[in-house]
Amino acid sequence: MRIDAIYLHELHIPLVQPFVTSFSTTTTRRVLLAELKAEGLTGWGECVAGEHPYFSEESIDTAWQVIMQELAPALLAAEPEHGGKCPGIFKKVRGNRMAKAALENAVWDLEAQMRGVPLAELLGGIREKIVCGVSIGIQPTMERQMAEIEKELAAGYQRIKLKCKPGWDTKVFEAVRNRWPDISLSCDANSAYRLNDADHIASWDAFDLLMIEQPLWADDFYFHSMLQKRLDTPICLDESIRNRRDALAAIDMESCRIINIKVGRVGGFSEAIAVHNAAQERGVPVWCGGMLETGVGRAHNIALSSLENFRLPGDVAASKRYWNEDIIEPEVEVSSKGEIQVPDSPGRGFEVREDLIEALTVRKEEVKALALA
Ligand code: MG
Repeated sequence: MRIDAIYLHELHIPLVQPFVTSFSTTTTRRVLLAELKAEGLTGWGECVAGEHPYFSEESIDTAWQVIMQELAPALLAAEPEHGGKCPGIFKKVRGNRMAKAALENAVWDLEAQMRGVPLAELLGGIREKIVCGVSIGIQPTMERQMAEIEKELAAGYQRIKLKCKPGWDTKVFEAVRNRWPDISLSCDANSAYRLNDADHIASWDAFDLLMIEQPLWADDFYFHSMLQKRLDTPICLDESIRNRRDALAAIDMESCRIINIKVGRVGGFSEAIAVHNAAQERGVPVWCGGMLETGVGRAHNIALSSLENFRLPGDVAASKRYWNEDIIEPEVEVSSKGEIQVPDSPGRGFEVREDLIEALTVRKEEVKALALA
């Protein structure tokens, strides 16, 4: 396909409530959207990098720069036949996976429209519905934590994930299990612990957690494998898995028994599918993590989650949990059974509200094609 123009947009959107993890608090999301024009159609991609380089080395400012200077000019020059060609086009640029994913996913979005097939089908998805869990940030008090869980269970979510950190862990799990002995419960430490916390973490086996997500360093497999030997509870890796090779290494080393796939973290749909397939071949279930996406990223996560090995509830939740007004129509809704319907219409299955994007945009820039030598 010939891509005629690429625009980057930065939007500022306040979250419905602040989201607190072991490493940061987000109150207003700075969102980077890529808009690709081709053959009279518009494809959208969302860069899930944070406001600061805390979750990964990337931030939306580094992504903006790398897209403007390197990735987008390369894409304009390349005329990719399909989304799967993007990793090759971007190969010269090391890392910067969230920046790459914003463009690659927009190309897949365009391709689905051009072929007249649902994005989920183009990715190889087979599920008509996906099962949803929620990720609940660290709350200021135990009362608030319990109230948040109660609200999400009442809304139908099938798995509760609690963000945790030293000092906000055992007492919370204990209180939750006393009140709800049977719910599907997991935790996410975002690398807040060290191997000498192994005894402490092993004591959580008593709480029958579905998994413990990323307890140790973001760049580690070895110490996670040592920790996993001490636990009955499966470790799930998130930050550590950057690509298919990482997934293979982590599975072979028994550093984890579950993998969280975030399409931005692995560089786009092509690599996300590769991670999914590698895990599936080895009997390791995956699920789709969230990065406080607007509707564009959320729609893409729904399509990805329709692949067969997304066997555990993901963090893909309703728009209204995050935004007063989402930038897509219809907004993402979750049924009382905790499920999202995978769209069966061509493309991403949700209209992008360009008027609202325009109103929320604080910075917009068009990528200039490189002058031909
Ligand atoms: Mg995580």
